[in-house]
Amino acid sequence: MSTTTVSAYAAPAPKAPLERVTVPRRPVGEHDILIDIKYAGICHSDIHQVNEDWGQALFPMVPGHEIAGVVAEVGPGVTRYAVGDRVGVGCFVDSCRECDNCLAGQEQYCAKGMSATYPEGSDGQPAYGGYSTHIVVDENYVLGIPEGIGLAEAAPLLCAGITLYSPLSRWDAGPGRKVAIVGLGGLGHMGVKIAHAMGAEVTVLSQSLRKREDGLRLGADHFHATADPATFTELAGTFDLIVNTVSAVLPLDAYLGLLRTGGTLVNVGAPADSASVNMFSLINGRKQLAGSMIGGIRETQQMLDFCAEHGLGSEIETIGVEQINEAYERVLAGDVRYRFVIDTSTF
Ligand code: NAP
Ligand code: ZN
Repeated sequence: MSTTTVSAYAAPAPKAPLERVTVPRRPVGEHDILIDIKYAGICHSDIHQVNEDWGQALFPMVPGHEIAGVVAEVGPGVTRYAVGDRVGVGCFVDSCRECDNCLAGQEQYCAKGMSATYPEGSDGQPAYGGYSTHIVVDENYVLGIPEGIGLAEAAPLLCAGITLYSPLSRWDAGPGRKVAIVGLGGLGHMGVKIAHAMGAEVTVLSQSLRKREDGLRLGADHFHATADPATFTELAGTFDLIVNTVSAVLPLDAYLGLLRTGGTLVNVGAPADSASVNMFSLINGRKQLAGSMIGGIRETQQMLDFCAEHGLGSEIETIGVEQINEAYERVLAGDVRYRFVIDTSTF
């Protein structure tokens, strides 16, 4: 097959509304898979990228790194997937495959830099994401979506799901452990479901009590409002692990005060601005402040299998492509329960 042109939705310039475009997809190579994209999730990172919150980016930008679809064609050397298989693609589509991190299955921390799904591959060339009808990806960077999870509910697992699964498993969320999830958005709601399924005692720390019923339904044991100063006195010294999913800078000292001795605050939210920490918030109680980025391919497959086994998918609102710009506004306004997923049949 030669290069094909496919329909997509792109931001033509920083902060500009997205619009219909066509973009090229490379020919299906020896180890490539052509995926007929069915659904693409809208991650808050897509909005950070379009708005250049994280610095200069490439435009036109086709966002989308929560991709779920069906294999439409395979290259001659492909062994892992066949036409018709249900598959997903997350935040990266290649890596060096040679560095210690790649060899350890932590391709997201590739020493040479992973090849992002968008906006720019490691070769500096533009890369177009999942708000599109098709994508061509090397089979080694494609995930299998187990039967038992709908494709639409699975799409957000490729970023939101793995971004919470990885730190929750690394820092031992499980029976006897008290875990707090800060922010009940796209990432946070998957954190509640996964931590609950792992057996931890789960607390949601949300700005208000507005989402309390949802939080408890999703698996939380407790729900507190961070706008209420009493939350920080009542829960002082409580948690083994706090995962912060908030897209804005939080007063970290206050949250570190909620950890038990030796506890860990893991940041996955990625605000543009720097946060500050008083060292005594860490020294006093031997606490740890950490970060975590998505997960490797092997771990992402584990996460998908775990979610299938426990009947977990994302809580979604499915939209047509014409609603993408409105959905961006609603994410920024906190008006999403809990992930927008684009139905690409509306292209
Ligand atoms: P989201 O759906 O917008 O959820 C963020 C949640 O944070 C909101 O629902 C809200 O929860 C809370 N929040 C928002 N603004 C706040 C503020 N000013 N103060 C306190 N709380 C606030 O976003 P998302 O898609 O889950 O992504 C969250 C962040 O994670 C983004 O920065 C994104 O770029 C980042 N991210 C990181 C990774 C990684 O690998 N580390 C992967 C994906 C995304 P409540 O209403 O409950 O307070
Ligand atoms: Zn994401």
